[in-house]
Amino acid sequence: MSKQKKFILQESEIPTQWYNIQADMVNKPMPPLNPATHQPLKAEDLFPIFAEECSRQELDQTNAWIDIPEEVQDKYRFYRSTPLVRAYELEKALDTPAHIYFKNESTNPLGSHKVNSALPQCYYCKQQGVTNVTTETGAGQWGAALSYAARVFGLEAAVYQVKITLQQKPYRSIMMRTFGATVEGSPSMSTRAGKNIITRDPMHPGSLGTAISEAIELAMSTPNCKYTLGSVLSHVTLHQSIIGLEAEKQMEMAGEYPDTVIACFGGGSNFGGLAFPFLRHNILDGKNTEFIAAEPASCPKLTRGKFEYDFGDEAGYTPLLPMFTLGHDFKPANIHAGGLRYHGAGTIVSQLLKDNLMRGVDIPQLESFESGMLFARTEGIIPAPESCHAIAATIREALKCKESGEQKVILFNLSGHGLIDMPSYDSFINGDLRNYTITDEEIAKSLSTVPKM
Ligand SMILES: *Cc1c(COP(=O)(O)O)cnc(C)c1O
Repeated sequence: MSKQKKFILQESEIPTQWYNIQADMVNKPMPPLNPATHQPLKAEDLFPIFAEECSRQELDQTNAWIDIPEEVQDKYRFYRSTPLVRAYELEKALDTPAHIYFKNESTNPLGSHKVNSALPQCYYCKQQGVTNVTTETGAGQWGAALSYAARVFGLEAAVYQVKITLQQKPYRSIMMRTFGATVEGSPSMSTRAGKNIITRDPMHPGSLGTAISEAIELAMSTPNCKYTLGSVLSHVTLHQSIIGLEAEKQMEMAGEYPDTVIACFGGGSNFGGLAFPFLRHNILDGKNTEFIAAEPASCPKLTRGKFEYDFGDEAGYTPLLPMFTLGHDFKPANIHAGGLRYHGAGTIVSQLLKDNLMRGVDIPQLESFESGMLFARTEGIIPAPESCHAIAATIREALKCKESGEQKVILFNLSGHGLIDMPSYDSFINGDLRNYTITDEEIAKSLSTVPKM
């Protein structure tokens, strides 16, 4: 029998509902709180910032299945389904008995999974008569996806991009402008939050936290403008569940079920997107799959952070979220995986981690790129620097299988390709990259800024 490499769903087999794990969780995530009153937020409290439907989805702890609007399904068909691929060549290079599969979310023209949520967020804005959307972006994948989705649904987009990555990776800002968005480096002088940050620290390289503050300020001060977010929040992870729901069908086509599911971790959307449809079977059907989120060693909120109510942004504009956090003014090192430079984890993942239903691993920068290089040379796809963390964690697990002789089935998410991140690979190949370590004292210091409850 020939060895099947790829498993692809027909358009008619693409799921028509998203999966909301909150409905099935035994211990539900704790509610976001109003920072002034410490009262739990209701969906209406989020309406000034987010699309109303996204606000409702954010706090929905009852409906496990949510219909994907027809208009969004139409746009999903531009690039979905995405292939599930068996990584035979990587297995061979590692000499592992493990079966390694990856879900390839890099195949859409924007290059990452982010467009899965950009489309519904813009659709819901359009549906309620919003004309403008704004957002933050790190490496630029979210900004590019949002700029495209805004164009698709006829909205104007304004994007704040982390300054250091705008400089390191100019091409994605050109993509955003190609789709018609305006782009500013954050911290910028165009908002009060940005000005304050620059006044305190003129050399601030920017972070997702600073860019979120600026985008929220713009949304709150501009009529008919809503804020959109590429990660962290529960409705974003809901939209990303399309990844895992497709993968579930495709694993069935392959005649296997994963023992281990792995994804890289920034705020949790591609991890939750792939993992939660499988985690559902751990909760409901007694399956024993292990779930591993791979974060950078230089931004270790899952492995070394603390579970606290904290702000989602640097300036403290967001609601207080119950999350594993390093403190909202944590300044991540300038690693090349810009999409993973965020201080906190989404509230669903944070609760799951607290309940030991998943675990985190931290990956040093050099190991991530070594792993990405091996993947490129075996499977022929140059992965995004973020995705390299998932590959590194996969390789660790596959090598454990080699030790033990276990034939585990490992599934990881290839969240994006690295073709617009070639300067990062250039630096790695030239030997110019290094690892960053942070001390317990540094973490304790940034954690001391978490608001007292
Ligand atoms: C944004 C991004 C991530 C990290 O975000 P999550 O919400 O944790 O998924 C990972 N990989 C790629 C390619 C990204 O663009």
